Amino acid sequence: MSITFKGGIHPAENKHFSEKKPIEKLPAPEIAYVLLSQHIGAPAKPIVKKGDEVKFGQKIGESAGFISANIHSPVSGKVKSIEDIPHFLGGYSTAIIIENDGLDTPADELEKHSDWKSLSPDQIPKIAAEAGIVGMGGATFPTNVKLSPPKDKKVHTVILNGAECEPYLTADHRLMLEHSDEIVEGAEMIRFALGADRLIIAIEENKPDAIATMRKSVEGKQIEVAVLKTKYPQGAEKQLINALTGLEVPSGGLPFDVGCYVQNVSTAKALRDAVIDGKPLVERVVTVSGLAVDEPKNVLARIGTTLSELLESANGAKGEIGKIVMGGPMMGLDQWTLETPVTKGTSGVLFIPPKQAKVGEETNCILCASCIDVCPMKLMPTSLAQNTKYEKFDMAKKLGVLDCIECGSCVYVCPANINLLHYIRWAKVEIRKMSKK
Ligand code: SF4
Ligand code: SF4
Repeated sequence: MSITFKGGIHPAENKHFSEKKPIEKLPAPEIAYVLLSQHIGAPAKPIVKKGDEVKFGQKIGESAGFISANIHSPVSGKVKSIEDIPHFLGGYSTAIIIENDGLDTPADELEKHSDWKSLSPDQIPKIAAEAGIVGMGGATFPTNVKLSPPKDKKVHTVILNGAECEPYLTADHRLMLEHSDEIVEGAEMIRFALGADRLIIAIEENKPDAIATMRKSVEGKQIEVAVLKTKYPQGAEKQLINALTGLEVPSGGLPFDVGCYVQNVSTAKALRDAVIDGKPLVERVVTVSGLAVDEPKNVLARIGTTLSELLESANGAKGEIGKIVMGGPMMGLDQWTLETPVTKGTSGVLFIPPKQAKVGEETNCILCASCIDVCPMKLMPTSLAQNTKYEKFDMAKKLGVLDCIECGSCVYVCPANINLLHYIRWAKVEIRKMSKK
């Protein structure tokens, strides 16, 4: 029996469009649009100005607080301007715009540590901070902070997340096939930094080739490869921990509270590249897919490449585009322009045709309870939405709205087309406002 959690859904996987496509290295963009806010927390502070010459990998934005991250130049060239550009969360945000000179002159700012085992555990988060590493599965939480749990929280189990449960996305799958040894090395660094005993690499059963490749890479090492049932949202932290260890992260708690740590496979590879090669996070693998794209694929794109360049790399659109989504179709964010750039958290970009993008008209709740059955957090989405609709935010809070992981499973199954997530997000905003007061 495969390992899994209670609840969840089985949306069409649609991974066949790109799962067999090897990672293709994209040429660096002529102009790189590097947002200062690519992570959870405070945007980085620019440390270059218009007209400055910059090198490939040079630090151009400095972490601006405890939860923030450094930003590095993905090309060498000249700073054209520092101005507001479209941001993937909507609206505009400040970016450093760099004219690429095509030379990729390296900055070589970070030290290389080929013998990383001679480092002390606390040097690993320091290197992660210098290299601007953040969670690349979409969460974008600064890795150095995550690697430094409070002293009273002992981590016994590190889980490397290779579930990639969102439909269409295959970036992590390809990375596991093509860079398995580097991922394993990065995972070992995480275990070393945290002083954990157990290391599990978790992969959904719909990726048998990745399971075999990773198993080969862990031969002779104290690392398990666990096969998970293919189910959404199998890759969510709390569901992964529960499926693999039986432990439940308490309401409002973090994986540390049950001695666990979860990190995405791409982040492990980026950490390994920073420690061994002295390479900051300036590029990532992105899946370009969806039924409106001519040639779906996986590309290694520099941070700051625009969505229009990604579309071009996939041979352009096939017919009309109805919707652009950054990330997967379940948790991804709709984009209104192709000028938005790739950031550290961009795992995929989907181009959806108009017919598929159309949402049915919302009708009244028929009390079918489907949303309750699928909720992986054991919430009652219909009650959360009803209370929010009548502005009973206190009641929504009591019912656990803050525990919602925004997976969208409830919306997916609702026969009345109720955008339950819209109400849940609204309640969260209002509750946070109330607690600030
Ligand atoms: S209530 Fe939240 S956690 Fe539960 S299914 Fe809906 S979006 Fe997912
Ligand atoms: S799935 Fe939709 S219709 Fe069914 S109980 Fe939930 S909100 Fe109501």
